[in-house]
Amino acid sequence: MSIKELDSQYIAHTYGRYPIVLKQGCGALLFDEDGKRYIDMGSGIGVSAFGSCDKEWVEAVTAQLNTLQHTSNLYYTEPCARLAEILCKRTGFKKVFFSNSGAESNECAIKAARKYGSDNYGNKRTKILTLVNSFHGRTITTLAATGQAVFHKDFLPLTSGFDYVEANNIDDLVEKTNGGDVIAIMFETIQGEGGVMPLTKEFVAKINEIAVRDDVLMIVDEVQTGNGRTGSLFGYMNYGIKPDIVTTAKGLGGGLPIGATLLGEKVENVFVPGSHGSTFGGNPVCAAGAVSVIERIDDVLLADVKRKSEYIFKSLEGAKGVKSVSGMGLMIGIETERKNTDILAEAREKGVLALSAKTKVRLLPPLNITDELLAEAIDILKEIIAK
Ligand SMILES: *Cc1c(COP(=O)(O)O)cnc(C)c1O
Repeated sequence: MSIKELDSQYIAHTYGRYPIVLKQGCGALLFDEDGKRYIDMGSGIGVSAFGSCDKEWVEAVTAQLNTLQHTSNLYYTEPCARLAEILCKRTGFKKVFFSNSGAESNECAIKAARKYGSDNYGNKRTKILTLVNSFHGRTITTLAATGQAVFHKDFLPLTSGFDYVEANNIDDLVEKTNGGDVIAIMFETIQGEGGVMPLTKEFVAKINEIAVRDDVLMIVDEVQTGNGRTGSLFGYMNYGIKPDIVTTAKGLGGGLPIGATLLGEKVENVFVPGSHGSTFGGNPVCAAGAVSVIERIDDVLLADVKRKSEYIFKSLEGAKGVKSVSGMGLMIGIETERKNTDILAEAREKGVLALSAKTKVRLLPPLNITDELLAEAIDILKEIIAK
C-alpha cells in the first residue's frame, strides 16, 4: 500500500490532509516523496521556527539525545532548568510549568486560575472569560475555553465555568466582568485559528484595566503568537501589558513537542507538590531544542522578522484580488476575493505550502526564511490570488 493508503486505512480520520507525502526538508524548503520542491510558508503550523534540519537546532537536540533522553520529573535535569531560567529572565515571569502541547499549557493556566480563585475567594469566583472566535485547544476543557460553537457541538457536556466576550467589544467585556464572579480573562493577542485577527490596543487596555482593578487574572495564550512569531518575543509585548499567566508551545520547541505555562507574581506559588504534573513535561531533549530556539530569538532576529513582515504587507496590500492583510510579524492573514482553498491548492501545485485560517490564506513561514525564498513564494501567491 502507498503511504496515503496506509494512513487512511490505519489512522483515525481527524485530519483533512493535503494530498502530499512530505519526505525531507532543508531550511524553508520541503520535498515530497517524488522529490518535488515546495517553499514552506506554514512551518508545520508555526512550529519549525528555524525551518527543517536547522544545523544549530539539530546539534543542540542530538547532543542531548546522545546524553540523556528522559528521566521523568522525579529528578532534576539541566535543560528544563536552563530553559525556565531563560524564559523567566527574558519576560519577568517567576515560574514555569512545562508540558507537551498548546492545549496542555492552557489546561495548566486554567488550573492555576481556578486554584488562585479557590485560595483567595473560596468558591465565589470561578468563571473564566475567553473571547468569541478564540482557539485554545482540543481537550474537553480547552474546547470549553474555545469560543467557537462549531468545535463544541458534538462533544457536550464540556467543562463548565466559561463565558465568551466578543473580541474588541468593550461594552460586552464590561458587562460580562460586572458580576464579580470572574477570576480570569484568557485571550490570544492575535486570534490565529480564528482568522489572524489582532485585538485592538483599546480592547486589550480595557482588559488590563479590569484585571488590575478587580484582581482578575490576565491569561494570554501565546501558543501561536509566542517565540518571535509576531516580531516580539511574545505577542503581549506589542501591547504594553503584563499578563499574570502566559502559555506557549508551537514554535518554542522548534519542531519537538513542548508546552510552557509562565506564571507571574500572583500565581507563582499556587501549585504545590501534587497539584499538577506531566510525565513527559520538560523532557530533556525537547527542552534542549527549546533552549537553542529561545537563545536565537534576539533583537537582531526580531528586527529581521519585522522587516520581512513589512515586505509581505507592502507586496500584498492593495494587490489585485487581495481584500485585506492582517496580522503581525510573520503571522499573516490574507483575505482574498477568490476562495482561499482554491488558492492554497493552486499554490501547492506551484510549489508553495501555505495555510488557511477561516476564510483567509494564512502565512507562518520559518522565522529565518531567506529573502529570496520569501520573495519567490509571495510572487507565486500574488499571481494566483490575482487570477
Ligand atoms: C495551536 C493552538 C493551540 C493548541 O495547541 P496544540 O499543541 O495543538 O494543543 C492552542 N492555542 C492556540 C492559540 C493555538 O494556536
